[in-house]
Amino acid sequence: MSNIHRLLPVATDITRPYWDAAAKNSLVIQHCPACGKNQFYPRGFCISCLSPDIEWKECSGKGKIYTFTVNHRAPNPYMEQKLPYVVAMIELDEGTRMMTNIVDSPIAEVKIGKRVKVVFEKISETMSLPQFTLDPQG
Ligand SMILES: [Zn+2]
Repeated sequence: MSNIHRLLPVATDITRPYWDAAAKNSLVIQHCPACGKNQFYPRGFCISCLSPDIEWKECSGKGKIYTFTVNHRAPNPYMEQKLPYVVAMIELDEGTRMMTNIVDSPIAEVKIGKRVKVVFEKISETMSLPQFTLDPQG
């Protein structure tokens, strides 16, 4: 058993609903009832109309690869164990983009435009990290 642990994100008042949902295997983004726009990453107001009355909504967890890179150098010992790994920008079907990893997928099959779906990596007793995997069903 490795003694090397993943660096954990630190939830803030603004991001806590995202992490609480992820811990329950649910992917959420922010939605603005005033103008109807979705946004990610979490902010304290709508970036489209500046309304402070932002809400959270559950996503389909599906999307496509907007762009990606294959990392061959890791920023820390935990990620070094995972080399090589894919860092990708996903475009969710709800229209927002999200930086993530593509996991449990052959790297040679990772392509721009390919369909992906969310999976959750449990990284502590109280936190899970949304990751994505290739979705053969699209
Ligand atoms: Zn708005």
